[in-house]
Amino acid sequence: MLAEISAALGSAKALLDITKAASDVTKQASIASISLDFSSKLFALTDKCNQLMEQNQSLKSEVAQLQGKIKKRDDFDLQANAYALKEVGAGAFAYVANDVTSPNESTHKYCPECFSKRKLSILQQSQGPERQIVLECGGCIARMTFARYITS
Ligand SMILES: [Zn+2]
Repeated sequence: MLAEISAALGSAKALLDITKAASDVTKQASIASISLDFSSKLFALTDKCNQLMEQNQSLKSEVAQLQGKIKKRDDFDLQANAYALKEVGAGAFAYVANDVTSPNESTHKYCPECFSKRKLSILQQSQGPERQIVLECGGCIARMTFARYITS
């Protein structure tokens, strides 16, 4: 970029100098040649400026996307602070609100697999064979089965 600017300015100075001194026809050819050189360098400079503006726009767009991702991550981290991983049934772990001491069927429980991927997915409860409790995630394939909720 600096090389193109320097070249264009050098041509402009040469053009100005020769124009001031141009008093006869022989110098007209020099003026035309320098003018052509100046025009081509100016065109190259304009082209380079356009490329840089496109690159700048692309980088601005990329920065905006990254800022969006960072905000989303920060928002999740803030939200995640309200939950803790707790054993809700024998060997069955789920994220529940920090203030829940005894998770039961009415407690909102979130999938640990999805939570590790920064996503809150509610575990849906259903009944399995032999009256077992089944928690399934709608966001992934996580599924856990246990006999009863752990009460503290
Ligand atoms: Zn899940």
